[in-house]
Amino acid sequence: MTEPPIDVHTYYRQVTDIDIGEIAHELLGGRITQQSRQILFCDCPNHRSQSHRSLHVWLDKQGWFCHGCGTGGDVLQLVEFVRHGVATRGHSGRMPDSHRDARDFLAARAGLSPLSKAASGNMEESEENYRMAVRVREALTALADVYHERLLGNAEVLGWLRAKYRIGDETLERLKIGFAEDGEASAARILMEGPGGFTLRELTATSAFRPTPQDGIVPFFDRRIVFPYWSRGRVVFMIGRRTPWTPDQEWERSKYKKLAVRNERNHEHVAGCIRNDVLYNEDVLLTRPERVIITEGVTDCISLMEHGFPVVSPVTVQIREADWERLLPKLAGVKTVYICQDNEVSEAGMHGALKTARILAGHGIATRVAFLPLGDKQKAARQKLAVLASGAAEADELMADAKIDVNEFFASGK
Ligand SMILES: [Zn+2]
Repeated sequence: MTEPPIDVHTYYRQVTDIDIGEIAHELLGGRITQQSRQILFCDCPNHRSQSHRSLHVWLDKQGWFCHGCGTGGDVLQLVEFVRHGVATRGHSGRMPDSHRDARDFLAARAGLSPLSKAASGNMEESEENYRMAVRVREALTALADVYHERLLGNAEVLGWLRAKYRIGDETLERLKIGFAEDGEASAARILMEGPGGFTLRELTATSAFRPTPQDGIVPFFDRRIVFPYWSRGRVVFMIGRRTPWTPDQEWERSKYKKLAVRNERNHEHVAGCIRNDVLYNEDVLLTRPERVIITEGVTDCISLMEHGFPVVSPVTVQIREADWERLLPKLAGVKTVYICQDNEVSEAGMHGALKTARILAGHGIATRVAFLPLGDKQKAARQKLAVLASGAAEADELMADAKIDVNEFFASGK
């Protein structure tokens, strides 16, 4: 039986839909010299090592890097690196046989035909699309590095972020949380002149830069805290949180801004691989945890990650219906899903949680809705709200104080 043709993005996603830890155990086995909750330390098969632990496989970010060889990537590149000693990057020209062999190896694991049989159109064209996706993700990953350095170099913004969310320094570093600020050298210039040598076309394809009518580019985020989404060892998407330094413009009003995606009418410059259907910390599902928490905000998700919980976030009150088709198979092995939303006066979080719970229960997944207990601040604000005439000037502030989310729950010492 022949399978229907599929698009190359879906194909590469399916062949790499496997826990990198599982592949590392299979291919590197005895070379794993130490392991922690997030990292497997391996003796690299491709260089002589004194420490026997220079190849790091990240279980949370689902990527790897060898400090001796100075190379890394995703699970596909790990297979290629272990079997052939090279890791093909987003270079131009025909994909080498080592890349194709690694791809076929993972395809066989996923029960898929080789790309030469499964792809619609010709294989070279499909590989060209994949190459562009790799370049775009490498550019986003390099940009996350630049923004992270900018954050560390700005004591005022760093102080504000620490006080507001209590995210630890190790987490800021690991997730490359950053501040989108253009200094003396613009971020775009650094990416173009740095070792990556990215082109204007590749930078606008990331959606983190917009083309201007004068053939220039401008950054999408302006003085926002940038949270990169990691998948398969690279940054695949970004969300920016407004700060007191964000310009006071009509189009900058929203608290959170996600990268724009390409659609039929707009954003033609954006690559097809920039998608907002990805969940924050989604790759945790590849490690097949028994229980998973779904939470509302990106900072809630990070707080739970810091406390060792397997957690994902759609970074909205509710997961879009279109995403369920892709998510449900991933949640299928999960025994229990816990939904943990904001506890607020409007109960928007609770309504979203109950709707999500009904969908999950409809697919046979046990679901629990967690209710965040109110602290003294929220109780006091709610009491005042109860006696206040609606529409009073203080109401907005009290409404904000009456709400508790996961991040604040942990930040207040619980
Ligand atoms: Zn090495």
